[in-house]
Amino acid sequence: MNTAFPSSPTSTPHIIDGKAAAQAVLINVKAAVEAEGLTPGLAVVLVGNDPASAVYVRNKSRRAEECGFLSRQYDLPADASEARLLELITELNADPAIHGILVQLPLPEQINAYKVIQAIDPLKDVDGFHYVNVGHLSTGAMKEALVPCTPLGALHLIQSVIGNDLRGKHAVVIGRSNIVGKPMANLLLQHDCTVTLVHSRTADPAAVCRQADIVVAAVGVPGLVKADWIKPGAIVIDVGINRVETPDGGRLVGDVDYATVAPLSTAITPVPGGVGPMTIAMLMQNTLKAARRLTTGEQPGE
Ligand code: NAD
Repeated sequence: MNTAFPSSPTSTPHIIDGKAAAQAVLINVKAAVEAEGLTPGLAVVLVGNDPASAVYVRNKSRRAEECGFLSRQYDLPADASEARLLELITELNADPAIHGILVQLPLPEQINAYKVIQAIDPLKDVDGFHYVNVGHLSTGAMKEALVPCTPLGALHLIQSVIGNDLRGKHAVVIGRSNIVGKPMANLLLQHDCTVTLVHSRTADPAAVCRQADIVVAAVGVPGLVKADWIKPGAIVIDVGINRVETPDGGRLVGDVDYATVAPLSTAITPVPGGVGPMTIAMLMQNTLKAARRLTTGEQPGE
């Protein structure tokens, strides 16, 4: 852990290993499941046959099994009606073996995603998208909140580098989506950072970003964040996952121009292998939290 943060700029930044951090979280989840004699149940619902979504869902189901969970996957056809999906959610809400329900997004256009998310029992909303959980997070009711997995994973990585005490750090979050940007900003605020949200209408985002001790980029624009956006010594978390075409078929890149930004930063996440693996690990942690609460009626941490 770097206690003298932010340090002076370095040409050998700490490359944050998201795979190793995720593995450590999964080991803890599995150990807790065994020690507590719990069988958390995770239901993952896939509508349609988008290949990327199918891979995400398969990975989530596989990790759940590895953690000792009951893992159920529900595949609905691409033309499934909203009523059919809502009916399935009602069944899962009532199923005592299921503690976490995840509906893979995006959904086909005949289905209103907002309506579907709000139909999930907030106690089983392991994605943290229900407005009850959004409300818990934004009011600071952290014991009650199920927090969206990607921001939770990003926070975990930040704390793995600079420790749990983030008081007074200036964090700039780029992107204001409900899935990443806004909950990320709320989490950092909860940890006493001074938080600025940068978005597509921000005047001079580079100048705002240059003030940051911590930068979290969640935009979806390959290489948007360049060296002149970064204060030397900053910690840089790249949430972006963007496929770019290359002569040899394409590769994944983040929202940060890694080659120019890395030498300026104290620590940086690579893409792939940074925030990505943490998302699934946090989903397992959220499902364990939901299972504990639904099984024992106890609030986690009591
Ligand atoms: P989104 O499209 O919902 O939101 C993007 C946000 O970026 C918007 O709020 C917009 O205002 C902002 N934005 C767009 N252009 C901008 C610009 N030029 N300057 C500043 N801000 C700008 O996307 P999202 O769902 O939040 O995802 C963002 C990225 O993170 C994507 O690449 C996505 O693939 C990735 N992602 C990764 C994970 C993971 O597990 N690592 C999870 C979710 C999303």
